[in-house]
Amino acid sequence: HYKKKWAATAPRATNTRVALQIFDMNYGDQYGALWPSIRISLLSVQKYGALVNNFSDVQQVIQGLEDLNAVDFIQESQKVIEELDSTTEEDVSVPTSSPQIQTELSKTQAHHFPSVSPNIKCYTFPKGDISRFHQARPDIIGILGYYLLDAASVLPVLALDIQPGSIVLDLCAAPGGKMLALLQTGCCRELAANDLSVSRTGRLRNVLRSYLPKEIHNIVRVTSWDGRNWCDTETDTYDKVLVDVPCTNDRQSVLEEDNNIFTYARKGERQMLPMLQLQLLIAGVLAAKPGGEVVYSTCSLSELQNEYVVERAVELLNIQYSINVRVEDLSHFRRLFQNTFSFYPNCRLGELVLPHLTANFGPMYFCKLHRMN
Ligand code: SAM
Repeated sequence: HYKKKWAATAPRATNTRVALQIFDMNYGDQYGALWPSIRISLLSVQKYGALVNNFSDVQQVIQGLEDLNAVDFIQESQKVIEELDSTTEEDVSVPTSSPQIQTELSKTQAHHFPSVSPNIKCYTFPKGDISRFHQARPDIIGILGYYLLDAASVLPVLALDIQPGSIVLDLCAAPGGKMLALLQTGCCRELAANDLSVSRTGRLRNVLRSYLPKEIHNIVRVTSWDGRNWCDTETDTYDKVLVDVPCTNDRQSVLEEDNNIFTYARKGERQMLPMLQLQLLIAGVLAAKPGGEVVYSTCSLSELQNEYVVERAVELLNIQYSINVRVEDLSHFRRLFQNTFSFYPNCRLGELVLPHLTANFGPMYFCKLHRMN
């Protein structure tokens, strides 16, 4: 009579293993033939970008990064614009039924970027080059020359298109990578940086201290509130709002045991994520001025945390608040940054950077909303 042995021989279901099993089920369906490639990339060494600190000795920092053969992927995208400019309109057109949309799209493709945060510089190693940056060292006055982050994290900030004098809210800001990119534009008149977690806002304050001169600190207001309740104190206030929500953090979840959202004890929290994300996005739109812009972002591949949250938010804002929101087309991003990132071509709304072995950034989903009234 066969008696199954438990525990002693069965491999322990580690958190990372559970995460991978759940991803295999969900993303296997969602991404089909693409999933094996995404999966192996998630499990492989991630690539970083070096966000240049414009408040340091920029020339020296850039020289150091260029000596490593790293390139500023944002500046590289300008070359794509120049190519677009020099091609005929037929060449740059994208398949769409309306000729009017077609011209508008080619216009944005060719002319959108020069105005978009030209001051943000982020260096990466070219596709296929897996060199790594070392940590930045403080200069003589103690300011760090660059910040290491997933280069795809800069895309939501670029999508927000900060303009001179913008009043900006970063609703889930800690530890502060995207906030730092927002400040690099040199365009924020005021920046409210919020994060529910007190310990993480502590890390954010450290970033401010290590990267910015004292004068700039005055434009940043740091708070540790629940972003869902932002409308209790402020509505219709901001030109630009970044809603970079907590998510399943797919890359971290398959690699790190500690603090893993796939641990059994956090199952409830995990299942409530789309609801939390929806509430945060709605709070972000309410905080924006009519005519203001909101970028929603996650570092998850899950459609439930990405497109579905956006769709539900648009619906609820309309029904509950009579606020109309337009989802912006960001497909020009795919064109501009194709040499640096691997984009998913089939997003219903917004754009998604897929991890790929030759460009192992992301996942990073971002979607831009325009508040109409
Ligand atoms: N934007 C950050 C950056 O670029 O460094 C990363 C933000 S991280 C993806 C999500 C953040 O949301 C976490 O720091 C978490 O503490 C915060 N958070 C979770 N629930 C929140 C809430 N209800 N209100 C505000 N922030 C929240």
